Amino acid sequence: MFDTNTITRFQGLETPFYYYDLGLLRKTLEACKIASDKYGFHVHYAMKANFNPKVIAAIQSYGFGADCVSGNEVSTAITNGFDKSKVVFAGVGKSDKEINTALDADIFCFNVESIQELFIINELAQAKNKKAKVAIRINPNVDAHTHHFITTGLDENKFGINTWQLHDVVDALRKCASLQFIGIHFHIGSQITDLEVYKNLCTRINEMQDWFEDHGFPVKVLNTGGGLGVDYHNPDTNPIANFEGYFKVFKDFLKVKPGQEVHFELGRALVAQCSSLVSRVLYVKIGQKKNFLVLDAGMTELIRPMLYQAYQKIENLSRRSESESQILNLKSQILKYDVVGPICESTDCFQKDVELPESFRGDIFAIRTAGAYGEVMSSGYNLRDKVQNVYSE
Ligand SMILES: *Cc1c(COP(=O)(O)O)cnc(C)c1O
Repeated sequence: MFDTNTITRFQGLETPFYYYDLGLLRKTLEACKIASDKYGFHVHYAMKANFNPKVIAAIQSYGFGADCVSGNEVSTAITNGFDKSKVVFAGVGKSDKEINTALDADIFCFNVESIQELFIINELAQAKNKKAKVAIRINPNVDAHTHHFITTGLDENKFGINTWQLHDVVDALRKCASLQFIGIHFHIGSQITDLEVYKNLCTRINEMQDWFEDHGFPVKVLNTGGGLGVDYHNPDTNPIANFEGYFKVFKDFLKVKPGQEVHFELGRALVAQCSSLVSRVLYVKIGQKKNFLVLDAGMTELIRPMLYQAYQKIENLSRRSESESQILNLKSQILKYDVVGPICESTDCFQKDVELPESFRGDIFAIRTAGAYGEVMSSGYNLRDKVQNVYSE
């Protein structure tokens, strides 16, 4: 929710920009910290969701670790103060250069996604006379009940090692003297709001850890991945993700043995609600079949709606108070618009048939819940300017 002062401030600024509510970010981090500490769980922040320097500084200050998916994320985590013993590195295509970066940084663990990768990490670690700690990313074939573009834990997905290959994994681990097996890793998808899904994941993790122990590989770390969803429809009434419910599922259903650590890798749930993309209406096109609002932001600033068919709430901040009275009295003033960007692509549309108060050139719009997979995915397509940032403080 934006107060009048904030909206007045926006009116004096060049658009588009990402607005960061750092107070809400801290509240969210606090809630996550309290909920995870209750059970002694460890949270690594999935840096790919947002690597804005102020955002990662706040996250680091709460003592979270970093979950990285590239060599540059590993280096960024370390230069931004994340403890190397809390940095993990996942990804289906780690290059030799990236693996060497992580070996040099002495990170906590590689989450390994194929048998071939095990041999490569072993070879590169051996060349440096180091022992690389590895966890095996297992594809548990658990349906995340989320959009099919963002599931990762089904047989058809490219991520992780399928369970029918685990015999080959332990064979490889026995051969690789420069690897130290520390645990098992899972990440089944993103924007998961049905907590039943995590119950099913716990069942699979319990089976898998027993399997490894039966084959002579005690499991020290159970890494359950991330994926906890946020409420894109009600960012004002439900700004903080259900951390308590989420961690409680693992407390209740995961079989944790003495001395074991439980790790989580949350991205979206920590950062999605703290940012909105703020934009102005450039042009209004009233048509026979469709009305269009052309914003000065497009898929180059925020691609989630186009890439994942994702819903993000769109608000006209300039007419908000009017719109509230109009909704009460004068329904006819509400129009349907396709809210589009300026980019030369037909898919450059944030949402179709949005009901909004009649809108005009210069009106300030907010596209809400844009803190995760927003700014980080911005691009220079059409030689666009780099999107700016504005902070609450
Ligand atoms: C992206 C990613 C995450 C974080 O996912 P969210 O849905 O943002 O919580 C966690 N672990 C791995 C391996 C990832 O690739």
